[in-house]
Amino acid sequence: VSWDQILSALAAICGTANVLTGRDVSDRFDGWPPSSPLGAACVVRPASTSEVAAILRHCNANGIGVVPQGGRTGISGGARASHEQVALSLERMHGIGPIDRANATITVEAGATLGAVQSAAAAEGLFYPVDIGARGTATIGGTIATNAGGNRVLRYGMTREQVLGLEAVLADGTVVSSMHAMLKNNAGYDIKHWFIGSEGTLGVITRAILRLRPQPRAAATAWMGVASFPQVTRLCELLVDHTDGALSSFEVMWPEFLDVTLRCGRHQNPLTSAHAFHVLVEIGARDASAILESGLAAAWDSGVIADAVIAQSEAQASALWAIREDSPARAAALKPAFHFDVSLPCSKMESYVEQVKAAISQGWPRSRVVAFGHVADGNLHINVGVGDGNSDTRKEVSRQVYGPLGSLGGSISAEHGIGIDKREYLHLTRTPAELHLMRLMKAQLDPGNTLNPAKVLP
Ligand SMILES: Cc1cc2nc3c(=O)[nH]c(=O)nc-3n(C[C@H](O)[C@H](O)[C@H](O)COP(=O)(O)OP(=O)(O)OC[C@H]3O[C@@H](n4cnc5c(N)ncnc54)[C@H](O)[C@@H]3O)c2cc1C
Repeated sequence: VSWDQILSALAAICGTANVLTGRDVSDRFDGWPPSSPLGAACVVRPASTSEVAAILRHCNANGIGVVPQGGRTGISGGARASHEQVALSLERMHGIGPIDRANATITVEAGATLGAVQSAAAAEGLFYPVDIGARGTATIGGTIATNAGGNRVLRYGMTREQVLGLEAVLADGTVVSSMHAMLKNNAGYDIKHWFIGSEGTLGVITRAILRLRPQPRAAATAWMGVASFPQVTRLCELLVDHTDGALSSFEVMWPEFLDVTLRCGRHQNPLTSAHAFHVLVEIGARDASAILESGLAAAWDSGVIADAVIAQSEAQASALWAIREDSPARAAALKPAFHFDVSLPCSKMESYVEQVKAAISQGWPRSRVVAFGHVADGNLHINVGVGDGNSDTRKEVSRQVYGPLGSLGGSISAEHGIGIDKREYLHLTRTPAELHLMRLMKAQLDPGNTLNPAKVLP
């Protein structure tokens, strides 16, 4: 069939106005950083699960690749599409509710933004704990498809832990409804987990039932200067012990982080003296301030922290978080920057970062390596600037960053997924048996290979 026929069929499913072509496609970016125009043949915007099913059925029957898209804030190229593929945007499926207060759940359509779901929960005095810098644009479907982590994994777990039920559409248009609202459900295989973190390669997520938590009565935030990495890990142990489960964030920034981030002129250094490591912590509890103050007092008495500032207002807390979350500032300072998101045991992080820095500076003496991350949950982000951004250089730098992870018991992706950008490195931290099982699963659920083809698996 010709593309004209495909476009007409898609228009018959969801209306001509919802099949975008030409400039309406290329004016969109295909991921983060927002630098490359979307390359799809068209963007199709269904309004319901049945329209999603009809689109997938039609494309599958005609061997056309379909790329599911949420907010396109993904960092591994999972939402990138080629000129021969259809981009399926969930943007019109953004319904939120109902909220079931008694059972603390919320039912949402996949295209609702994370921020809108957080606000809807808060309006009912409840709390959706997944939180990432892209909250205003990233969608629930995208965060489920990537199993997003973010700032509060330490206390609440990743997106996987928040999903009670979901609805997904397979490549052939079969609708799989697994919209259960129970926390416990051991009746056979837990089908929702097949789709969570599958980056749109096994099914298009259309709806979900999410678990909500009690709204923390209060939050307290502090920024600390710490002299060494062993002191950082000691501080983490001490605060976990001292805060009785109320520690929700423990963000660590290596020495270069502030230097690079403050260059944009948008922020002020929270501390007046220089420190090797900076740590941002958040406590959520009724008596958050008292818990934080006594935790910091204990850390101070043990000589673990060298300096600290406690936010005195929400505005001050936001200003501290703005430093941590200003990835555009770091991207601009290192331009062109390569971004990595890895995980490994906390105890091995310091030597790993040193090893990566040494290897990169050998090849590029003027390189900058900026490490930071959620750390307490084993997650490290590394931004590298070596002065050029061509793909051979990216590959060489990637080898230096990913190379040591296998033997350290780490992973080449902590929370950003594999997409296209990390495909060729997947074998470094997955066993042949794991890869074989992944391929079997893909072949079973999408035998025609039309759903987000060429993503995740090499
Ligand atoms: C400033 C910034 C900060 C970030 N911070 C974090 C962070 O702390 N932690 C973190 O984990 N990530 C973070 N991210 C990455 C990104 O926001 C997440 O990966 C997010 O989950 C992507 O959501 P999205 O709706 O934008 O998905 P997209 O980028 O549109 O898609 C991502 C992947 O999911 C698939 N997909 C999207 N929607 C669906 C669907 N409905 N059904 C099936 N597949 C689908 C796509 O095909 C693609 O493979 C950050 C990004 C930015 C720009």
